[in-house]
Amino acid sequence: MKKICLLTIMSLWASLSLLAQTSQEPLLDPIKRDELKRDVYQLADAHFLGREAGTINEFKAAVWLVEKMREAGIQPAGDDGTYYQFFDLYFRRIMDHSSLKIGDKSLKLWEDFIPASYYPTRFEDKELVYLGKIKPEDILKKDVKGKVVAIEASLDGIMDNISLFHKRYYYLEADRYKQALYEAEVAGVIYVANSLFEDNWDAMYHEMRRGRNGVEGVRDQLVPEMPIFWVKKNALHLVASQRKMSCDLGITLYKYPSVNLVGKIEGTDAELKKEYVLFSAHHDHVGVREVVDGDSIIYGADDNASMCATLLAIARSFKQRPAKRSALFVFHGAEEMSLLGSRYHAMHPVVPKESIVCVLNGDLIGRNDINSAGLLGAWGEHRTSDELVEAALQANEEGPKFIIDKSWDDPNHPEFFFYRSDHAPYARVGIPVLFYTSLLHNEYHTPKDRADRMNYDKLKKMTDWIYLTGWKVANMKDRPKYLKSAKVN
Ligand SMILES: [Zn+2]
Repeated sequence: MKKICLLTIMSLWASLSLLAQTSQEPLLDPIKRDELKRDVYQLADAHFLGREAGTINEFKAAVWLVEKMREAGIQPAGDDGTYYQFFDLYFRRIMDHSSLKIGDKSLKLWEDFIPASYYPTRFEDKELVYLGKIKPEDILKKDVKGKVVAIEASLDGIMDNISLFHKRYYYLEADRYKQALYEAEVAGVIYVANSLFEDNWDAMYHEMRRGRNGVEGVRDQLVPEMPIFWVKKNALHLVASQRKMSCDLGITLYKYPSVNLVGKIEGTDAELKKEYVLFSAHHDHVGVREVVDGDSIIYGADDNASMCATLLAIARSFKQRPAKRSALFVFHGAEEMSLLGSRYHAMHPVVPKESIVCVLNGDLIGRNDINSAGLLGAWGEHRTSDELVEAALQANEEGPKFIIDKSWDDPNHPEFFFYRSDHAPYARVGIPVLFYTSLLHNEYHTPKDRADRMNYDKLKKMTDWIYLTGWKVANMKDRPKYLKSAKVN
């Protein structure tokens, strides 16, 4: 009897230790290509009209996603025992009564002029100085203090090899002159569009009409700023010949909600389960925009239904086989409005900030060459943790074996891609991050970013890679250390 009992205990011990060993192995089975595909198709459906932040469509997609989180076995970790973490967006809009007069000639809002600043401003017969085509450094040589200047826009020194250039050039142009205009203490600036700028007048109109958005701590106040106006090139003679201008720029600021979706799968180790590997995606996109080939819904299949599907697949695996540390799944809202959801969650995480051991973020992960992928936050100045990068490289070797494109992590890369997705706010508060991406393509932010144009074999490989990295980190003895030398601003 004693002998049998001892044998039983021994075999039980053997099977338990076998279990303990196998539980250290990652589990790729629950990550299925066809489920990834199904989820991308559903989230990128026309029904959600491009999931624009601060609209009902973002909320509809969020509710759908919460049902999928529940199905995947994720436990709620948001507000009041739910999956939701609501936050305020701060919308600043240009009011329709806004006016601009040059000399005695009144210009029409949007048609003849576009304001590109968001602080209420009223000038009566302010002195106007025409500077023509001028280099920023030459402005200081002019007598312009307290006056409004008019500048002929040009593309000198502007990098036009950035994606969506037609939506960015007016910011880039304003940036080029900003410092000099402030130093010269001018009261305001009128840019006269050249042909290229004017060809993109509609794009600028759509962007500026939508306004500028913020979140707590970021653009949540009306802060005084220099008024900026754009006029069409046929107004050149007018601004060059007149000496006075008047304007009444009205701005409204109001709050509107957006939402992050947050859930977790608890770890198995009594101590380590208090720490979290954070898997990050964004569920919003840019809504309905200009028509391209008869369609105006920007479906956002690659951007970023792809990573949302990935998070669900990773959760299914963690549900079947949890790791020592817990897994936290965050689907951010309002990413397309300059990372507002992740900025908010990085400031108000649902678990203590110190308990987040790393953020594995993905954005645009199902396109381009099936054998290569980008990993950012990994090389040179942007590297936030040696151990985390090492885990990702090992995971790549054990899994998809991508040829890793490092070039987009270069601080001098024209796209500044490291700063353009949801890992960035976490890096700034001292959490190690990685950014996985299959990089941009010429259908980015167009109605052609559809589910039927994705590469699901690639998406499966990316998902495996992200999961395998997360699995390693979630089971490591020591958490990855944050490199204080990292350049993340
Ligand atoms: Zn995105």
